[in-house]
Amino acid sequence: MSKRVLIVGAGPGGLATALLLAKSGVAVTVLEKQPRVGGRTSVIEAEGYRFDLGPTFFLYPQVLQEIFQAVGRDLFQEVPMTKLDPQYRLTFGAGGELNATPNIERMVAEIAKLSPADGPRFRQFMADNAVKLAKFAPCLQTPFSGWTSLLSLRLLGVLPYLKPWKSLHAELAGYFRDPRLQLAFTFQSKYLGMSPFQCPSLFSILSYLEYEHGVWHPQGGCNAITTGMARVARELGVEIRLGTPVEEILFEGRRAVGVRTAAGREMADAVVVNADFAHAMTKLVPNERRRRWSDANLARKDYSCSTFMLYLGVEGRFDHLAHHNIYVAKDYRRNLEEIEQRHVLSEDPSFYVENPVRTDPTMAPPGHSALYVLLPVTHQHPNVDWTKEKARYRDVALRQLAKLGITDLARRIRFERVITPLDWESKLDIYRGATFNLSHSYAQMLHRRPQNRFEEFDGMYLVGGGTHPGSGLPVIFESARISSRLLLQDLGRAA
Ligand SMILES: Cc1cc2nc3c(=O)[nH]c(=O)nc-3n(C[C@H](O)[C@H](O)[C@H](O)COP(=O)(O)OP(=O)(O)OC[C@H]3O[C@@H](n4cnc5c(N)ncnc54)[C@H](O)[C@@H]3O)c2cc1C
Repeated sequence: MSKRVLIVGAGPGGLATALLLAKSGVAVTVLEKQPRVGGRTSVIEAEGYRFDLGPTFFLYPQVLQEIFQAVGRDLFQEVPMTKLDPQYRLTFGAGGELNATPNIERMVAEIAKLSPADGPRFRQFMADNAVKLAKFAPCLQTPFSGWTSLLSLRLLGVLPYLKPWKSLHAELAGYFRDPRLQLAFTFQSKYLGMSPFQCPSLFSILSYLEYEHGVWHPQGGCNAITTGMARVARELGVEIRLGTPVEEILFEGRRAVGVRTAAGREMADAVVVNADFAHAMTKLVPNERRRRWSDANLARKDYSCSTFMLYLGVEGRFDHLAHHNIYVAKDYRRNLEEIEQRHVLSEDPSFYVENPVRTDPTMAPPGHSALYVLLPVTHQHPNVDWTKEKARYRDVALRQLAKLGITDLARRIRFERVITPLDWESKLDIYRGATFNLSHSYAQMLHRRPQNRFEEFDGMYLVGGGTHPGSGLPVIFESARISSRLLLQDLGRAA
């Protein structure tokens, strides 16, 4: 008899799981609260402008391509995309800029423009990190069910590369002398919502991935990935119900057996949770049922930063900008301390601007621009009241944009949306508005992260940024592979 699985949430993790389970002959229903698929990887469309809500950098498409191939499709045909060169431009508040390119020769020359002695060090960085990624890749593809997994031979091969005593920034200081270059190869920890001064050194593989495998732009934005996945999933027979919030997960003893929505109870052989982990636990599973992940324990965990967002439809073009532009605050360390330790708003914040019409004319009407502006800020904290700060910080953001020559903006804005950490929390169901989930410290990684085959209940599996391996699209797709493999194994099906 056909087995039935319910997936709570149509984010990238939920959709990838739906594809893999459907291909293995399971009847899959995805229940999504919002009126559209994609979760944080969805779209804002208005007045001819198109913005990614969240992800704009698509790294390492290989994992998703393998998932598409497993269901008989080709990712690059389903979701056309281009590799960007330059992949981004960094502008340093301390002076100077760097056009990051995946062309190694040109990158050496770019680095040398900032610091001649550091140019050749780039090749060493790439060579060392190729080995590190090869060593660590199996850990990203394997479930970690307890401390005994750490004894696995694979991981033992990795221990010399983990260096738990060393931060990412300290690791890069061993390669590059110029502090700006140390930042150019460590700011990627922000993809995990962490400071490079706190982030484990292991994550130097992130910048390596960019240079080795490229930064990709799907036509129409990263949201085209999730709409493409949903289209293929439906073609494979997956039912996706939009505008259907799950109100509660149903249990028999310690086994998850279904969910309750406004329409009633739905029963299944297994439940996959893609909704933000801490949010889902606190809203969908009564506290008294949980032990390891009780409300009190969740409150004690470390969470990533949040983001203050501006989506601006603007008359006119900004051809002096690259597709991806990053401004690194003059006092970057202070900016990060304000975000992560002091939980206050910076007055000279670092920021990121995407100007996608440089590459993709579908993002705005002709002669217009769709600017996506992101400022990393503290997750929800009593120090910041966004009902009072929202308008002021919007002005701070517009003032900062002038540092990249984006001026004369106010009178040309034709569409505007602001999203604050309060909105991420209250409208988009993200615990504390921590957009990149539980932070990725060693204390919250591997077997210490909520596990793919969820350790609290039978018949419940997690996918997405809240489980192993962590946040960011490529590893979220790995979580879908791990969790669907475990689920199929438990149902007695071949993956
Ligand atoms: C601003 C921002 C920028 C980012 N930039 C990048 C980037 O450039 N590159 C990158 O790789 N990653 C990036 N990320 C991180 C990450 O890739 C995305 O956040 C990704 O969408 C997370 O996927 P997920 O599978 O964990 O689930 P989510 O995208 O969080 O989706 C979960 C889904 O569950 C739904 N849901 C919640 N509660 C319920 C309920 N009760 N019932 C039914 N449905 C429910 C939600 O509505 C949502 O659709 C970014 C994230 C943010 C927020």
